[in-house]
Amino acid sequence: MKRTDLIPALLLLPVLGFVAVQALHTHSLTATSQAASLAPAARLHGHRATTRNSGTTEAVAAGEMDANVAAELDAKKRDVLDIRRRIELGATGTYIGEILGERDSALARWPERLAPPVRVWVGSNPMIEGWDDSYPDRVRDAFDEWANLGIPVKFTFVRDSVDADVHVSWIDHFDSPISGKTVWARDSKWWIVSANITLALHHNAGELLDPKAIHAIALHEVGHLLGLDHTADTTNIMTARVRVRDLSEADRATMKLLYSLPPGSVK
Ligand SMILES: [Zn+2]
Repeated sequence: MKRTDLIPALLLLPVLGFVAVQALHTHSLTATSQAASLAPAARLHGHRATTRNSGTTEAVAAGEMDANVAAELDAKKRDVLDIRRRIELGATGTYIGEILGERDSALARWPERLAPPVRVWVGSNPMIEGWDDSYPDRVRDAFDEWANLGIPVKFTFVRDSVDADVHVSWIDHFDSPISGKTVWARDSKWWIVSANITLALHHNAGELLDPKAIHAIALHEVGHLLGLDHTADTTNIMTARVRVRDLSEADRATMKLLYSLPPGSVK
């Protein structure tokens, strides 16, 4: 099949005419702000790609292949050398290189969403033992902190989950040693189109997360939702095992750099 023949074929694919791929991010969060008293926790970080509305591995493989082909076609239309130069120029003080390493040299981000902003629904679950009514506010604060960096994405918090782009829900604990999980979907051009975050109130071992810890884990998960990946530097909120409670300069710089670049492969 010639390359040009692929374009109508891709448009015929189900799910709103584009290939949607989900990326799953999970991570663990330290229970306390004192690094010295951290309980050992397994680093758990999963990336998984699946097509939406499909649970079969065959469909996953096909979806990934099509997405890769589409990304390749898109990359040829873009000035990849120029994008690489811009990454090089802006890389100092960021962990953009680690993100590219984990993503096979591709960047994913939301398109400009200032008007209309991204619609976020933050759930409540007072039935969970240890629930604190301030938790949803701590999560909304986390969204706003990232948006206030001046990136071209704003969030609006909606009461109705039905028409939200982003859902945040709560569980008592995960069965694995993690405290949060983010799943996002992107189109074939690596624009993120929707996302869901699940937050646990308790560590896998049973310890309750206080509002500051919930805020930190929310910052981490919203970082994923916006397109960031993990960094090895534990002074950043985007380290796999979160130890800090606030955004670092590198977190801010990496997010700003990501949102100055078009998404997609820079191979
Ligand atoms: Zn993570």
